[in-house]
Amino acid sequence: MNIAVIGAGYVGLVTGVSLAEIGHRVTCIDMDHKKVAMMTDGHSPIYEPYLEDMMRRNLRNGRLQFTTSHQEGFDGVEVIYIAVGTPQLPDGTADLQYIEQAAYDIATSFQNDIIVVTKSTVPVGTNARIKAFIDEVSMTERRVDIVSNPEFLREGSAVSDTFYGDRIVIGADNQEAANVLEQINEPFELPIYHTDLNSAEMIKYASNAFLATKISFINEISAICEKVGANVEDVALGMGKDRRIGEQFLKAGIGYGGSCFPKDTNALVQLAGNNQHNFKLLKSVIEVNHTQQKKLIEKTLQAVGELQGKKVALLGLAFKPNTDDMREAASIPIAHALKKHGAEIVAYDPIAMANAKKHLPEDVLYKASLINVLEEADVALILTEWNEIKTLDLSTYVKWMASPIIVDGRNCYSLDEVKKYPIHYVSIGRPTMNQRKMSFSIK
Ligand code: NAD
Repeated sequence: MNIAVIGAGYVGLVTGVSLAEIGHRVTCIDMDHKKVAMMTDGHSPIYEPYLEDMMRRNLRNGRLQFTTSHQEGFDGVEVIYIAVGTPQLPDGTADLQYIEQAAYDIATSFQNDIIVVTKSTVPVGTNARIKAFIDEVSMTERRVDIVSNPEFLREGSAVSDTFYGDRIVIGADNQEAANVLEQINEPFELPIYHTDLNSAEMIKYASNAFLATKISFINEISAICEKVGANVEDVALGMGKDRRIGEQFLKAGIGYGGSCFPKDTNALVQLAGNNQHNFKLLKSVIEVNHTQQKKLIEKTLQAVGELQGKKVALLGLAFKPNTDDMREAASIPIAHALKKHGAEIVAYDPIAMANAKKHLPEDVLYKASLINVLEEADVALILTEWNEIKTLDLSTYVKWMASPIIVDGRNCYSLDEVKKYPIHYVSIGRPTMNQRKMSFSIK
């Protein structure tokens, strides 16, 4: 099948490359000239395991190409995917300006009968409006069908999620169009779930809201664990063994971030509100998440006493491991709060430092390795559980830090292991280990 994908970001590029990999001829269109030039040269503009190799293979075999021209990209295609961003407006609703532009680009440039497939996360009713808009603006006799095909990949494992995901949701009000989408996706050999347009759009928001709820739930439990002397890791494991609950997304920490959960939970609250439903549960989930990042600062103050002039090492900056994405990363508000307290910040991330520079306070010093960042630091804050960070031998902290204090926002180390080292170790929902007596009080 000849396919165009509008928007070659985290979702569009992975989608385009994967569709080429299973045998389709794919043109990815992006308005960012620099990105298109990079991709045409075989370089991925995003860090995503396995993506670049697969992209190069499909460029070489001629099934994949990139362009900035919608006209060129739509030439001879039967299916056009929309994978542009849907960021958040100040009031929490989804900003649909890129979707509107993509719909306009389609309406003014398509040549054949087409099926438009929306991968972007959009509020319920948007797909129907995209179709109505294209029909109105295009003024051709060509037929346009629309399918909602929400994306569930996770950054950091996007390629494997595409090939080994749990399900593919196809939402359409036209059976023929839905069948074409099923055929396109057949080589992935994943379960396919058909719904109407509106339900498919809702599945995406409901899924993200539910996962965010699990995270905020376990974070609330972690706060109670701290008060009653329980260990949240053990609690989560004991809960997760119940198949009705499941083990995933029960990891206490500094909360969710990234390009999806924060904006999608806000958008669903707004969507509900616009339809006269007060989504109280989800509002609390969002509030708990905000509190979680503040707690890490409180814990740091409790451990260190005061931060003025103290050297604070940030370990991990990306919103999660295996990505360079800094959107809504916890490191951003945490670094700004530390600066307000007068801390001197040094930081390390294996991949995301170039992107981090655009978001963190200007005077943050970036270091080339974990050892460099720990050297003479007064306290180390673990913010992203990169493998390199969570497997770092605890003796490294002892060796390089003046008087080692770790505030672990991701519960990377087992308490039994920490016990063996002279490290003041604070984590989330677990007892503090080797606590030092403070010689001064917290302001
Ligand atoms: P992104 O910002 O990484 O990429 C969007 C790309 O679209 C950019 O490269 C931009 O230049 C391009 N673009 C915008 N308008 C264009 C136009 N008219 N023509 C050509 N190119 C255009 O966004 P993303 O993270 O890939 O997210 C895309 C959508 O997928 C969003 O709705 C998001 O909520 C959803 N989603 C994202 C993820 C994720 O993990 N990132 C997962 C599931 C769903």
